[in-house]
Amino acid sequence: MSVRQGRPFLSIPGPTNVPDEVLAAMHRPAIDIYAGELVGYTNSCLSDLKTVFRTTGKTYIYAANGHGAWEAALTNVLSRGDKVLVLESGLFAFIWGEMAKILGIDVEVLHRDQSRAVDPAAVEQRLKDDTGAQIKAVMVVQIDTASGCINDIAAIRAAIDAAGHDALFMVDAIASLGCVPYEMDEWGVDVTVTGAQKGLMMPPGLSFVAAGPKAKQAHKSADLITHYWDWTFREGEVHYQKYCGTPPEHMLFGLRKALDMLLEEGLEHAWERHRILAGTVRSAIEVWSGGGALGFNITEPDERANSTTTIHTGDIDPSALLNYCTEKCGVTVGIAIGPLEGSAFRIAHMGYCNAPMVLGTLGVVETGLKATGIAHGSGGIQAAVDYLAGEVRAD
Ligand SMILES: *Cc1c(COP(=O)(O)O)cnc(C)c1O
Repeated sequence: MSVRQGRPFLSIPGPTNVPDEVLAAMHRPAIDIYAGELVGYTNSCLSDLKTVFRTTGKTYIYAANGHGAWEAALTNVLSRGDKVLVLESGLFAFIWGEMAKILGIDVEVLHRDQSRAVDPAAVEQRLKDDTGAQIKAVMVVQIDTASGCINDIAAIRAAIDAAGHDALFMVDAIASLGCVPYEMDEWGVDVTVTGAQKGLMMPPGLSFVAAGPKAKQAHKSADLITHYWDWTFREGEVHYQKYCGTPPEHMLFGLRKALDMLLEEGLEHAWERHRILAGTVRSAIEVWSGGGALGFNITEPDERANSTTTIHTGDIDPSALLNYCTEKCGVTVGIAIGPLEGSAFRIAHMGYCNAPMVLGTLGVVETGLKATGIAHGSGGIQAAVDYLAGEVRAD
């Protein structure tokens, strides 16, 4: 028997749920790409992206997924043989570093346990030891969607400054922009990359890069620049240059609507919504953990991300649970990736997401834990409801 007939739920950390308004905005005929309305879409999106990144720097839109933005960031500011320091905190900074290696960049990884965020003190020490200033850039993710941690970007900036180091600071905010506070200029970030399909409520297929003055300076001497990603070419007068080819116009129609929705809600409100929904999820997991089989992958409570949660299952393979959730109940919960594959699962609470979506997902996961016989403390949903009612008051 299954009870899945109904609206399917997607609770994976990307792609996330796309609002019907965004889908509807994309459903229209193609328009001219050389002049007229589309130029306004480009200019307003580039400008509003600055508001979301919290920067007065330059923004770029790529018809690519997050990996494209990664490559754009690397190739625009670095040269073959440059050394970079990758701050590991799960999976994504590490694989951004693997991409850098293939480009001919000398990559050093500052290793970290899969259950912890980056340690700013370790960053400071490593940079202090770099007396010859060999390290040209420091690369980190704000929220790692594999481990479920959030890195303290302001604290890492402070560590770079305390070491008196001049490296560029490059941040992947793909799974965090629009979900948690991000202050590109205030935190002294030189390059930020993000993607459309996480907190920005869009289908996959667009990614965005923001560059500050120091990155623009480095761009002048970078020798890895290729035509497609090149910032200088994209700053040209002709609209066609902004995308190095045909603008992904339907994606821009969707993006315009998604940015309108985010800015109408208010960035701060969206951050607060994510904080509360994350707390709701964590309240249930805390109780389930009492059964001894499950637990938070990230051991320190203040290092847990507000857009996605990774739950480890130890020796238990979670695939029966995840299959149950999807096949029997219609909720797709995230598998774990990287080193955690097969011993964890992930619940996303990212982007276009509200209380019934989160409570529905948690309710199905708890049902699945019971049905598949995984030991768990009882009353997780009650704890989630109690938390939510305490945070969202009637008045
Ligand atoms: C999803 C994700 C990526 C990769 O984005 P793609 O669009 O799949 O290329 C990179 N970094 C983080 C933190 C992510 O969550």
